[in-house]
Amino acid sequence: MADYIYPITRLIECFRRLPGVGSKSAARMAFGVLEMPENEAEEFCAAIRSVKHDVGRCCVCCNLSDKDKCDICSDPGRDESVICVVEDARAVNALERAHEYTGTYHVLGGVISPMNGITPDKLNVKELIARLNGDVKEVIIATNPDIEGETTAVYLSKLIRPLGVKVTRLAYGVPVGADLEFADSETLARALEGRREF
Ligand code: ZN
Repeated sequence: MADYIYPITRLIECFRRLPGVGSKSAARMAFGVLEMPENEAEEFCAAIRSVKHDVGRCCVCCNLSDKDKCDICSDPGRDESVICVVEDARAVNALERAHEYTGTYHVLGGVISPMNGITPDKLNVKELIARLNGDVKEVIIATNPDIEGETTAVYLSKLIRPLGVKVTRLAYGVPVGADLEFADSETLARALEGRREF
C-alpha cells in the first residue's frame, strides 16, 4: 500500500474497514472514487453523513428509522396484536420481502450471548415487555435457529408466557426448491418438529 500517495492510501484504508472488503477491492473502490465526477463523490460523502445523522430507532419497535415512529408502526393496516421478534433490521427486511406477515415487529438489537458479554439488559427486551399491555395476543419469536438464537427464544418465552400472551416460534424446515436427500439432519429434525396439519 506504500506505493500510493497518502490521500489514496487513506481512502483505501477506509474502504478496508468495511466488512468483506480486502485490499484489492478497497484499491479498486478508491480508484473508482478518484475517477468519479466531483458531484458523485459528494453524494457518497453526503450519504455516509446521512446514515450516521438521520438514522435512529423507532420509538415503538426499535427498528432502524429516520422518523420517530417507523413506517410499519405508523401503518394502520398492520395488526398490532401480533409482534414478531427479530434480531436486527435485516431480518425485518427479509420477512417483509415475503409479503406474508401483516403484524408488527420488535427488533432486539442482537441475541443473548454471555460469551460476548451480551446479557438481556443489553437488548431491547424491556421495550418489548412494555408493549405487552393487554392488546397483544401473540409474540412470534423469529431469532435465528442457532444456539444463541435458541437461548434468546427460550429466555423470552419464559418471560412472556406468564403475562398471558401466546408465544410461538418460527418453524424451520427444508428450503423451498431443496432436495430432502441433501438437507442436513438437524434441518430435517426441525422440519419434522415444526410440521403442521393440512
Ligand atoms: Zn416501528
